[in-house]
Amino acid sequence: MAKDMVESVKDLMRKPEQIRNIAICAHIDHGKTTFSDNLLAGAGMLSEEHAGKQLALDFHDDEQARGITIDSSSVSMVHTVDDKEHLINLIDTPGHVDFGGDVTRAMRAVDGCIVLCDAVEGIMPQTETVLRQALREHVKPILFINKVDRLIREVKLTPEAMQERFLKIIGSVNEFMDKIVPPEHKGKWKVAVQDGSVCFGSAFHNWAMSVDYMQKKKISFKDIIDHYQDEDDNKYKELAKLAPLHEVVLGSVIKHLPNPVTAQKYRIPNIWHGDGDSPEGKAITNCDPNGEPAFVCVKIVIDPHMGEVAAGRMFSGTIKQGQEVYLNGAKKSVRVQQVSIYKGAQRMQMDEVVAGNIVGISGLKGIFSGETVSSKPIEPFEAISHIFEPVVTKSIEAMKSADLPKLIEVLRKVTKEDPSIKIEIDEKTGENLMHGMGELHLEVIENRIKSEKGVEVKTSPPIVIYRESITKVSPETEGKSPNKHNKFYIIAEPLNEKIVEAIKDGIIPEGRVKKNDKVLYEKLDKVGVPVKEGKKIRDICNGNILVDGTRGIVHIGEVQELINEGFEQVMKQGPLAKEPGISMKVTVMDTKLHEDAIHRGPAQVLPAVRAAVKGAMTQATPVMFEPMQIIQIDAPHENMGDMSGLISNKRGQLLEMNQEGDQIVLKAKLPVAEMFGLSNEIRSMTSGRGNFFLIDQDYERLPRELQQKIITSIRSRKGLKDEDFKEEGEEE
Ligand code: GDP
Repeated sequence: MAKDMVESVKDLMRKPEQIRNIAICAHIDHGKTTFSDNLLAGAGMLSEEHAGKQLALDFHDDEQARGITIDSSSVSMVHTVDDKEHLINLIDTPGHVDFGGDVTRAMRAVDGCIVLCDAVEGIMPQTETVLRQALREHVKPILFINKVDRLIREVKLTPEAMQERFLKIIGSVNEFMDKIVPPEHKGKWKVAVQDGSVCFGSAFHNWAMSVDYMQKKKISFKDIIDHYQDEDDNKYKELAKLAPLHEVVLGSVIKHLPNPVTAQKYRIPNIWHGDGDSPEGKAITNCDPNGEPAFVCVKIVIDPHMGEVAAGRMFSGTIKQGQEVYLNGAKKSVRVQQVSIYKGAQRMQMDEVVAGNIVGISGLKGIFSGETVSSKPIEPFEAISHIFEPVVTKSIEAMKSADLPKLIEVLRKVTKEDPSIKIEIDEKTGENLMHGMGELHLEVIENRIKSEKGVEVKTSPPIVIYRESITKVSPETEGKSPNKHNKFYIIAEPLNEKIVEAIKDGIIPEGRVKKNDKVLYEKLDKVGVPVKEGKKIRDICNGNILVDGTRGIVHIGEVQELINEGFEQVMKQGPLAKEPGISMKVTVMDTKLHEDAIHRGPAQVLPAVRAAVKGAMTQATPVMFEPMQIIQIDAPHENMGDMSGLISNKRGQLLEMNQEGDQIVLKAKLPVAEMFGLSNEIRSMTSGRGNFFLIDQDYERLPRELQQKIITSIRSRKGLKDEDFKEEGEEE
């Protein structure tokens, strides 16, 4: 980066009205990487000639080799509109759905996004997913319709047909948004050709248009088409000079996407539940560079020299090199080493970073993605809720047992870099489980462990994680502590479907409930839990809730954290096969507690609570649920029979089937257990022309005839015996 640009960035970093924090997101292969490179080239950060080839944001070796963008990295660039410089902080996000967690986290750091859509393919399942991810974080979208050169050259559309195609894409984007946009933005966030919030062009050929721009430069649709139909094969190149992609798109970004001060006013009340009238509340809401610092980490990059670098958003205040800061989740103070602004995989060191920017901070030992960093303890930001959960699991072992400690260290690092990977290290069985979003995800991580981290590992075939639940209300069930002095009386029952959905959709955040969380009570009220009832909820874990239904128990406040802990333990490892729980409401009806705190410590309370919760579940007709994926399969028309056969062979349900030209588009729901290798099967049946995409996830009750078989096989895989399900002091 040129020296003067460094100066510009330093200067602009403090002018929030001239800042835009944005992400680019799209369905895989719709051209996001090509597009991002184009913007960088335009901003003078890549040579224009190399744009589209250099893949500046794809910096892991495996990404360049596979040609897909896996991690999101960030870059800052300067763009001038009407003689005014603007700082654009851009986060690139992965295209493959297996890496969608990165997209969700990136949304926390930005206020606006460019949704890219392939003009030929139109809206795809992932286009909808990224929109959902954006709107959930109150991130405003604009639309870019890409690959228009293909419409002209391959599909040979007339100017009229081309406009019709655009209108159809815009219509589907608006129709979809209308269903999910937060009420306060309804109608206001529609994208439209007339105002320039829709641009179109070819990232590959470096040009873009918007209606404003076409009017200003007197360019018609026919002119564009003519540039591709001239005898001179290179005439289209003039379009890049006439309407450079970065100029048009960044112009639209600056005009239509909010600056951090405007955005934080409506975003903060939705993602931060502290007191808005407190000094830090005011600073965060107003994006005040002079107030309490608040930084939210959205990604951790491990730098060979600097160690862990936390990338994220400064919502308020200023953080300086060498300053002591507080990690609100980890509850400890650490010293900042360096602060920086991003440029792809590189960072530019700064003396300090300020509110309204996307920045990198190193030295924050113990940081994790989602962590809130400040100078004194403050209310942390709401946990970032993901659209999809990791449903594919493999066990992973070191080839040499001497490498085990190294493997554990590497696994910890891997989850830091990619929090969508969940690792469970079971010291007792020595089985380390690695949960990921799909087979590709795990494969990429496994290769990274082998090649980048140098540990030889062996993995199991994919494993499915089931869920344990119940089908009726249990009787009040007693759980006694080993010393018999503490007793808990608990009821377990199926959780209301509306609450289940709201937790799944991230409307109701998971985690222990803090006192007087008015924002949460309001959210619960909207899904049918009156505030009076909402106030009794103590914990939300894995889609299950814990309610305190006791009255007048003097010491309950002192053991509440332990009750939460015991509840969470059972929600992570249930009584059937130690699989996680789902969709249950657990109510503590009454307790008897020892007068003396010494006799109601963790060693007494935890086993008693666990015994009561498990006992209640066991008497409420427990069942196993299996993870399902709702997918869209696209295939040539002649493969219609093959595809519906494939779905029924895999215990799948065909939900919808449509014909689009010579393609068929099927929507189906399949058990994850039957989906391994599906991608290859579809490809081989369709000679490589078919593909599938994830639309949604769900859990369904396992067919009765499979239930016992699955429980037995899970228990045997985990090496579990009956006594492993008993609590200390529990009677037969
Ligand atoms: P990503 O998966 O969204 O990052 O997509 P890429 O940028 O890797 O692009 C996917 C493929 O589409 C690549 O082969 C690109 O060269 C191609 N591509 C991207 N943009 C355009 C475009 O505007 N026109 C054409 N014809 N191809 C494009």
